Amino acid sequence: MSSSPSIFTRIVQGEIPCHRVLESPAVLAFLDINPLAPGHTLVIPKREVARLDDLRPEEVAEVACAVATLAPRILAAVGTRDYNVLQNNGPASGQEVPHVHFHIIPRRAGDGLGFRWKPQASAPEALADLAARIAGA
Ligand code: 5GP
Repeated sequence: MSSSPSIFTRIVQGEIPCHRVLESPAVLAFLDINPLAPGHTLVIPKREVARLDDLRPEEVAEVACAVATLAPRILAAVGTRDYNVLQNNGPASGQEVPHVHFHIIPRRAGDGLGFRWKPQASAPEALADLAARIAGA
């Protein structure tokens, strides 16, 4: 854990209010304060760690199960069927709160949210080399 509790730890501890939608001993889910769409929800492990790969496997499983359980409930509440799950790690990825969180973002055709990602072509040899390095790491 970093030197001061994250804003999400303060939410877990009840120091900062939130709109809770799901809670278990290890996981909390609540509405994002600045939603990208109605129903935008954050699912977090209560234990404060910054990055997904800092979590224990059982914590990953619990948070992922909560995401999958909650998504259809959110979609039913806001009346749509599609959604993104987004999880940022580190400043370059856009992570602002250094406490693992999954965004569940309901989507609709023409909602204008879009993506800024720009796919790039890659030589097959480069892909093969990279896959071997990752698999062998
Ligand atoms: P990140 O950019 O780190 O992936 O996303 C952080 C998210 O946390 C943002 O969508 C932001 O709106 C949300 N957020 C930041 N502070 C609070 C807060 O105090 N309460 C709630 N409910 N959401 C917050």
